[in-house]
Amino acid sequence: MNTANSVRLFAKARASIPGGVNSPVRACRAVGCDPLFVQKAAGCLITDVDGNTFIDMVSSWGPLILGHAHPEVVAAIRRTAALGTSFGAPSPLEVELAELLCSALPSLDMVRFVNSGTEATMSAIRLARAHTGRNIVVKFDGCYHGHADSFLVRAGSGLITLGIPGSPGVPDDIVKNTVSIPYNDIPTFKATLGERGGEIACVIVEPVAGNMGVVLPEPGFLETLRTETAARGIVLIFDEVITGFRLAYGGAQTRFGIEPDLTTLGKIIGGGLPVAAYGGKQALMNKVAPEGPVYQAGTLSGNPLAMAAGITMLKLLHEPGFYEELEAKANRLADGLAERAQAAGVPLTLNRIGSMMTCFFSRGPVRDYNSAMTANTDMYARHYRSMLADGIWLGPSQFEAFFLSAAHEERHLQKILDAAERSFRNLM
Ligand code: PLP
Repeated sequence: MNTANSVRLFAKARASIPGGVNSPVRACRAVGCDPLFVQKAAGCLITDVDGNTFIDMVSSWGPLILGHAHPEVVAAIRRTAALGTSFGAPSPLEVELAELLCSALPSLDMVRFVNSGTEATMSAIRLARAHTGRNIVVKFDGCYHGHADSFLVRAGSGLITLGIPGSPGVPDDIVKNTVSIPYNDIPTFKATLGERGGEIACVIVEPVAGNMGVVLPEPGFLETLRTETAARGIVLIFDEVITGFRLAYGGAQTRFGIEPDLTTLGKIIGGGLPVAAYGGKQALMNKVAPEGPVYQAGTLSGNPLAMAAGITMLKLLHEPGFYEELEAKANRLADGLAERAQAAGVPLTLNRIGSMMTCFFSRGPVRDYNSAMTANTDMYARHYRSMLADGIWLGPSQFEAFFLSAAHEERHLQKILDAAERSFRNLM
């Protein structure tokens, strides 16, 4: 494969951007490659600056559930841009998207828009702390809630990929207020709340973990989080930055029938533009400034371009049958991958729900951070390189999800399966 233009751009990028990338996993170090620079993308196809085209399984890490450059989303952005890109004042599209979110997720009366998932989770824990007058945040090992100081404790995503548990520059005084415990471990969760319940402001969880690879909540786990936090006046936060509008129109909370006190959203709600939100019941949300004293603000928050993209995306997702069709495709792909791995004798644990999945090179089961860490990352790296050479663009880390979009058609799935079959055969 000719990658001369990517090689040249990467060398230039490294002189002006740390590591040559604006988010660490993009550097592809965990899979032993240099990054390919992208020129353009449409549907499920992504084309690099040397003209190589791939079937994209990353979907920009989740937002692009309709595929790249969906014509209706692009048209909405164009129409809106012509009227101005940011006003620093309220505008009608913010109200429309807020109403769409509140009608989609049962736990939301009100939302506040921000520009990234990190801002949403950071603001949600501030609100929870203000509401309870307590400081401790409980999170789960391997979950990722963005890069704010409080969350960089046994965090997933880029941190697990780079093999670092946290980050220098985060004061001990801050992380002493974060307690990270194993995902799916009900006894440890109950013990933690039993010991420190009176100090705990909130419990934040990815209702389906997507940042140590996909890890599903075991039966009773989310239910226990709900009942135990409610009993102690602790705010339960579902971080649905990935799962919102991915697992169902109403997110994981609808799929599992559990209502958190606060929800964070991002990715899909921005239609591919930078939007996130946090929300919950009116009594809690009205504590946010200027209605209440909890300060949070944003220059570009609720900007019309991002709102227009989000509204258009959500309307398309609301079409009857959308999620059923996507799920059926994901099911076929997952079954096909599992069959081919088994035929080749490759130890593969495929964790999937809806259109998000991870192929762990491990005998499994993978149910938490420690079991995720037993996956064979060398094998994943070889698989990644083989798939790339065969025209399939996977996430450059064992510990990420891949995301199917409505733009993946049967013929694309077949190509992915054919490439996986060749890769699996060569792995053993
Ligand atoms: N929460 C979850 C569950 C995420 O997956 C992410 C990012 O991947 C974030 C929060 C942070 O979002 P952002 O990267 O937009 O800051």
